[in-house]
Amino acid sequence: DGLALALLGLFVLQTVLGFGGYYLLEWVGERVVADLRARLYAHLHRLSLRFFDEQRTGEITSRLTNDVAKVQGAVTSQLSELLTQSLSFVGSLGLMFALNGRLSLVVIAVVPAVAIAARQFGAVVRRYSRGIQDRLADTTAIAEEALQSVRVVKAFAREPFEVGRYGTAVEELFGLSRKRALVQSAFWSGVGFAFLAGLTVIFWYGGTEVLAGRLTAGDLVAFIFYALNVARSTSGLSRLYTAYSSAVGASERIFSLLDTAPELDDAPDATTLQEAAGEVRGAVLFEDVAFSYDGEHPVLQGVSFRAAPGETVALVGPSGAGKTTLLNLIPRFYDVDRGAVRVDGQDVRGVTQASLRAEIAVVAQETELFGLTVRENVRYGRLGATDAEVEAACRAANADAFIRALPDGYDTAVGERGVKLSGGQRQRVAIARALLRDPAILLLDEATSALDAESEAAVQDALARLQQGRTTFVIAHRLATVRSADRILVLQAGRLVEEGTHDQLVDRGGLYARLAALQFATPEVEEGA
Ligand code: ADP
Repeated sequence: DGLALALLGLFVLQTVLGFGGYYLLEWVGERVVADLRARLYAHLHRLSLRFFDEQRTGEITSRLTNDVAKVQGAVTSQLSELLTQSLSFVGSLGLMFALNGRLSLVVIAVVPAVAIAARQFGAVVRRYSRGIQDRLADTTAIAEEALQSVRVVKAFAREPFEVGRYGTAVEELFGLSRKRALVQSAFWSGVGFAFLAGLTVIFWYGGTEVLAGRLTAGDLVAFIFYALNVARSTSGLSRLYTAYSSAVGASERIFSLLDTAPELDDAPDATTLQEAAGEVRGAVLFEDVAFSYDGEHPVLQGVSFRAAPGETVALVGPSGAGKTTLLNLIPRFYDVDRGAVRVDGQDVRGVTQASLRAEIAVVAQETELFGLTVRENVRYGRLGATDAEVEAACRAANADAFIRALPDGYDTAVGERGVKLSGGQRQRVAIARALLRDPAILLLDEATSALDAESEAAVQDALARLQQGRTTFVIAHRLATVRSADRILVLQAGRLVEEGTHDQLVDRGGLYARLAALQFATPEVEEGA
């Protein structure tokens, strides 16, 4: 009875230890993966726009999901496996040596061969795995792009094209995975064969030893049992090794992303704009600015101008002249190649980006909202804002009325990128968001697509309110805008060619006069406003 109880106690102890050990290992693995994901994502948000210009979104999401998942597989379930297999390997090997040293050496002779082969195969598996993760990223990118632009796909009836494109990528992925499987299978069976060959030697050599009376038959049987154990754990270990090599292939992709240096990090001695400038008033100064996206083709050259606090500056010029680029330099989305951009006398490279951007709001031509509720989209401008403040901003943006008419009012989800709202409504939500932010500087890209007269008037009225008391840069597409601007900057091929008010520039009869005649010739709703 005592024995049975002791046995039961032992089993309970073993179970508890097993439970604890397994849980601990899994915990460590999952923790590592969670930290890796969070760190990777935080790192992504430190990277500059230049990085995102070069990357496909799907490629980046694939690193966060597929690559991390691959590493996860290696660190969680396989860690415990590694432990048990290693223990079994070492234990059986020890017992073998205890039984018969010379015979053990025969078995051990196989190990270096296996180790060398493992190195070679590991490298191949790693290369394939890297390729597989690359292909996987391709498929993710293709799918994501097509799904993002599903309206274009449908409008051009390009479903078969997209399905084919994805299918090709998936087949390539399959091809590589098949090759990796081939290499792995060959390796595992090779290891198995090596041990069987070793076993044959044991039979032969052990047999002669038994016949010579130097070894008992019972010991030989026990020995073979241990040798089989060693063989099993070796092939288990080699499986783990290839799995590990796969994970290394995936982790290379993760680490290359983590190694991408954030190009526009704050300078170590950067202070906030408020601290450096005393009071933020919104004066903007460009000093002989030159900029290019690729370091080769200049997009802006020798651009110098000054905008006083509260001024409205209209940017005019042919498409591709560099208007958007000029706006991008003010919040320091990119760094200038030469010269400087100053806000309230401070070089934007010398102050923290967070403090600089806190003073800037952007209202883009094609407003993209988050797939959240209207309230959350507006609150994005200032996360701490109360409901009352959100609603006040919406009233000032002429958005309150239409928002209240939505099915759930302020709590209506706007759909991905705001697809459930009209263009004019999206713009007014974006204006409310900017109003809530209450910045010193405003960057506007006027909508080119004509809204209906009523929304146009509502948007213009909201914009006028938003511009009050702020330095405003606007890429102008309407006559009313350039007429009311304090100053017009005319850009051509990256150079500032004219500067002045509408009347001054029309009198001059230069590029602006020609552009104005062409671009602003269409009758405007509020002409002369
Ligand atoms: P505009 O707003 O006056 O139409 P942009 O500032 O958008 O002009 O573009 C100026 C030039 O810079 C164009 O030749 C355009 O092709 C190029 N460009 C714009 N954005 C990028 C980018 N992210 N990467 C590389 N080149 C760009």
